[in-house]
Amino acid sequence: MNPDIKTILYSEEQIRERSEELGKQIAEDYRDRPQAPLLVALLRGSVPFLAELIKHIDLDIEYDFMDVTSYEGTNSTGDIKILKDLDTSVKGRDILVVEDIVDTGKTVAAVREMLMHKGASSVKIVTLLNKPSRRTEQEEPDYVGFFVDNLFVVGFGMDFNQKYRCLPYIGVLKDELYQ
Ligand code: 5GP
Repeated sequence: MNPDIKTILYSEEQIRERSEELGKQIAEDYRDRPQAPLLVALLRGSVPFLAELIKHIDLDIEYDFMDVTSYEGTNSTGDIKILKDLDTSVKGRDILVVEDIVDTGKTVAAVREMLMHKGASSVKIVTLLNKPSRRTEQEEPDYVGFFVDNLFVVGFGMDFNQKYRCLPYIGVLKDELYQ
């Protein structure tokens, strides 16, 4: 285990198993749609989860990436800046946004609004982690891997100052490292 980690919350095996369950559920839910969904992964944290999830969605899916950042010091959901936009058209498509963690809900609320505005037929959210205790938006992800308390977590794509993204598990850092 990485010496900076205090506790492992979810192991590599637990994440793999849960991703498989979610992937199978998603395949079942979208099976009768005219076209398989376009997965929109939000950079950079969702990449390991996307890679695990897509192995288990037995449909002819496509995926693309967006990089967005919310403006500091605002409560408005519309205030996100697109750092990298999609290369694929979302018009008339069923979209499944792939996120690492839904915290306040601002990011997914703004992305959902933007994708609907661009003509998506439907927008659903799949997130590896859900932290509902900090929610400020009326936003509930459609598919959730695991729930977490009001804790700052790292690993499996999630960083602290760009570190720890490559850990194969989700954990909490030792207290002194958050200073
Ligand atoms: P929201 O817009 O829902 O408040 O924030 C979502 C983003 O905040 C996530 O994509 C993630 O980048 C970051 N975030 C929220 N909680 C955590 C956490 O516990 N750990 C890490 N590493 N990032 C988090």
